Amino acid sequence: MTSAPDDLTAAPGADPGWPRLHPTTQSAYNRILWNGGLSKSEVAKKLGLSRTRMTAIARDLEAAGLIVEGGREQRASTGRPADMLLARTDLFHFLGVHVRADELVVAGIDLANTVVWERRQPVGELDTSVIGAHCRKWLVEAKADGLRVAALAVCGSTERIDGAAEGMGLHAVVPEVVRLEWEELFGVPVWVEDDVVALTAFEQWPRLAEGQDSMALISLGRDIGFGLVADRKIILGAHRRAGRFSHVRVASDGARCPLGHRGCLWAESSVTSIVQDVTGARSLADVLARAQAGEQAARERLARAARGIGAAAGHVLNLLDPDKVILTGDSPSILDSRDGDFEEGLRGVYLAPEPPIVEVTVFDFLEWARAAAGLALYRRLAEYDR
Ligand SMILES: [Zn+2]
Repeated sequence: MTSAPDDLTAAPGADPGWPRLHPTTQSAYNRILWNGGLSKSEVAKKLGLSRTRMTAIARDLEAAGLIVEGGREQRASTGRPADMLLARTDLFHFLGVHVRADELVVAGIDLANTVVWERRQPVGELDTSVIGAHCRKWLVEAKADGLRVAALAVCGSTERIDGAAEGMGLHAVVPEVVRLEWEELFGVPVWVEDDVVALTAFEQWPRLAEGQDSMALISLGRDIGFGLVADRKIILGAHRRAGRFSHVRVASDGARCPLGHRGCLWAESSVTSIVQDVTGARSLADVLARAQAGEQAARERLARAARGIGAAAGHVLNLLDPDKVILTGDSPSILDSRDGDFEEGLRGVYLAPEPPIVEVTVFDFLEWARAAAGLALYRRLAEYDR
C-alpha cells in the first residue's frame, strides 16, 4: 500500500468542481456511496486498508466535502456503535440524453441515482447541431435550477437510433470529433454511448452494494443489443464493439438473416424478423394479437423466438457466468406465457446444473434517459476506482 498523499485538486479544465481523487480514495468513496453509508472499519476491511490509511482517506474525503460523519449507529452484530461515513448525495448531478429519431429526452440524477430533473423535446430531424444546441440549453437550464452537473451522457442505439433509417446509428449523428467539441464547449465530460450499455449501467449501479459483480442484459427489439458487466465494470471492448452477439446461432434449422446466417438469434428472435415472417403482420403488436386469438402461425413464430432468446441467454451464461441475466426491450411481451419455450432453448445450451437467475424487465422511454444519466454517474465514479 503506498502512502502517497491523495490528490484532491480539481481536475484541469473541463470539470468544474468534481475532485480528482487518488484511486484508493475514490474506491473508498464509491463503497460508502453504494452502501448508503459505511463505518470506517467496514471500508478499511473491504479495501484491505490499515487504520491509519483509512483515517487519512476519511479526512481527505471530508475535507473535499464529499462525505459527512453520520454519527454513531448501534450495530447489532457487535453491540457497539461504529463511526458511520455518509456520502453527500446532493453535491453533484449527472445529465443523460436519450436520442430518438423524433424526440430527445433528458433526465438529471443526483449521486443517489434519484431523478431530480426531466425534459422532453420533439425534434424534426436527427441533426448533430440540433442535439448539441439542446444539450447546451439543458446544461444552462439545469444550472439555473440549482443542479451542479459533473458529466453528460448522450445515448442512443449505435446500430440504429429508435425510429431512424437503417445505418443511422448514434455515432453517425454524434461522431467522436463532435463529442470532443462538446466537451470543450460544455465544460463537462461528455460520453456518447450505446443505450444498451447505458441501461446496463443503470441496472448494475444500484446492485453494487448487494455484491453483484457481473450481469448480462439482453435488449430485444428491431435489433438485439447485449450489455455486459464483469468484475463491476461494463465491458466495452478493445474497440468499443463488445456485445455484438445478435448473430450467434440459436437454431439448427431456422430462417436466414440478411447476413446469410441460418438460425442466428437475429433471424429467430429480432422483432424485424418475427414481423416479416408472419404474413400480413405490420408490427409485433399484430403478431401478439394474432397469437392471442389462437392463430397457429403467429403462435409458432413467437415460440421459436422465445426458444431463440433462451438459447442466446444460455450461451451468455456459459461464457460469462454472470450473477444474473436481464431480458428487456420487447422480451416481456414475446416471452409472456412462453416460459416453456424459453426454458427449452436455454436448456439446450446452458451447461451448469443450477438454474440461472433470469429477470424480465420493462423500461419506458423516460427510463432510457435515466439510464443515460446513470451511465454518466457510473463512468465518472468508476473512472479512477482502483
Ligand atoms: Zn445473422
